[in-house]
Amino acid sequence: MKVIVAETAGFCNGVKSALEVTLEAIQKRRNGDAICTFGPLIHNRHVLDMLERRGVSSESSIEGCSGKKVVIRAHGIPPEQRRALHQAGAVIVNATCKRVAKVQAMIKRYANKGYHTVIVGDEDHAEVVGLMGYAKGRSVVINLPEHVEGLPGDWRDVLLVAQTTQNEEIFREIEKMFLARYPAGIVKNTICGSTQERQAEVRQLCRSVDAMVIVGGYQSGNTVRLAEIARECGIPVYHVETENDLSPQEMAGYSRVGVSAGASTPNWMIRNVVRFLESIQPEYFTGQPTWNKVIDLLAYSNVFVAVGAAILACAVAALTGLPSSFSTSAMAAFYVFGMHTLNRYLDHHALQLNDPARAAFYQKWQVPFVAVSIAAVLAALWIAQNVSLSAFWAMLILVLLGILYGAPLIRATWQQGLSTLKIKDIPASKTLLIPVAWACVTTVLPHFSHFWQFPGTIVFAFWIVFLLVLIRTALLDFLDVQGDYLVGRETIVVFLGEAKTNRFIKATLALLGVSLVIGPAFGLGASFALWMLPSIGINLWCLTMCRKNLLKGNVHIEALIESIPIGVGVLGFLWLLVHR
Ligand code: SF4
Repeated sequence: MKVIVAETAGFCNGVKSALEVTLEAIQKRRNGDAICTFGPLIHNRHVLDMLERRGVSSESSIEGCSGKKVVIRAHGIPPEQRRALHQAGAVIVNATCKRVAKVQAMIKRYANKGYHTVIVGDEDHAEVVGLMGYAKGRSVVINLPEHVEGLPGDWRDVLLVAQTTQNEEIFREIEKMFLARYPAGIVKNTICGSTQERQAEVRQLCRSVDAMVIVGGYQSGNTVRLAEIARECGIPVYHVETENDLSPQEMAGYSRVGVSAGASTPNWMIRNVVRFLESIQPEYFTGQPTWNKVIDLLAYSNVFVAVGAAILACAVAALTGLPSSFSTSAMAAFYVFGMHTLNRYLDHHALQLNDPARAAFYQKWQVPFVAVSIAAVLAALWIAQNVSLSAFWAMLILVLLGILYGAPLIRATWQQGLSTLKIKDIPASKTLLIPVAWACVTTVLPHFSHFWQFPGTIVFAFWIVFLLVLIRTALLDFLDVQGDYLVGRETIVVFLGEAKTNRFIKATLALLGVSLVIGPAFGLGASFALWMLPSIGINLWCLTMCRKNLLKGNVHIEALIESIPIGVGVLGFLWLLVHR
């Protein structure tokens, strides 16, 4: 099935920033601090469940917020509720969306001049309740053009605004009737740009697909409106919260399906629906199964990473001119495979959010996978002790670090006495430790005996592999950022944010490029380094793909990213064939 995903689907900036503010409050929480949101942070029960598990409750009354750190959600609240929260001893963390705050300020300004405010929106919606609070008691809420006729005819100064997620077309109709009734009235189209773009894209998409799937909470007003807009286009529309709400038999009747989502739908939920749809073969399809399943299987089973680590040893041999052997390649592959797989089990919360299909795969094959991973780690240790005693001890340290990565350790802090610390809680630790481990097993461990003879060459090779794998890991972290945020996984994207990580990856690529040119010039590596330069362009392309395709199937982009170290390794192999 062909699935077309709307580029505008998913979190809007206001929701993204409200979540970030809440997660920052969780990170800064001191022992005993109670955190809550005033009303549900977003209309998505899966995200709310995750927040609940991290100790953030959703309170609906002022009394319930008493003495707590209270996050004001993106919709904002009326000023009297804010005062009441202060009086109840709550510490307010303001996550009101900047655009909503602008509308509040506008209503307040006109209300001070004596204007009445007409708000196009849903009367019970939290944003509308908040906006009404700024109108000095002179506001009316309407949501249909015919409601304009019911407005008092004797009003002189009247302002028309909209809830930021209203239907653009309905607002335009109301605007015409409003100006006919109040020629001196002031109209401010306060529908948020992101809502307008999302709705316009859905209308556009409906013209080129057989059916439309809208993903998002059933209580989410903007998601409901998206579904209504799609229905107006005359095609079948499915408003779903998860892929489980879709019937594969029914969906098999369509060959092209469009997918969009409300402003409070996380990326991973959209991706799950997309992957589910992509796995359905249309009824008339008579061809062979696609390669998708094969790629899924290779990625899920960590075969890509194992092959990447093994063949990267060829690139290291080409770069350093030092001998390579099948056994040291196997050592790197066994270590990387074993640790990646075991860590998938240790990090199952994040996996369940980011990629439930993969989590289910690991769950199903848990016993054989864990057994094979342990066997792989033991094999890596056995090969290391054959290489040298130093290699064995270094491998043992790497294995222990890998295992201790998610385990609670004890630390002493002078204010709080003893508390627990996990290596994985150190900011960006995941993104930085993986490349260190890869660089150790592919460059240092196989060449301990040569180290004092060629220290510069080995350090240079370590540096190149470190940068290459750092870029790979940061790119993969991009794909899982929203789930990682929620479960508190310390990746570089969670630590720096998406925009800074984008710049960080570009800077790292530039550093890799400069190193690849300077290294051979200073005699630190063979001119094979120059053969590696095209990998920079491919990584840049992957970065664009990652940022653009966060909503598409993860596995194919992941396979593409994993194939870069494999490609570099194959080039190393060819170089060795030519030069030896
Ligand atoms: S839809 Fe627009 S106004 Fe509403 S929360 Fe999102 S970014 Fe803010």
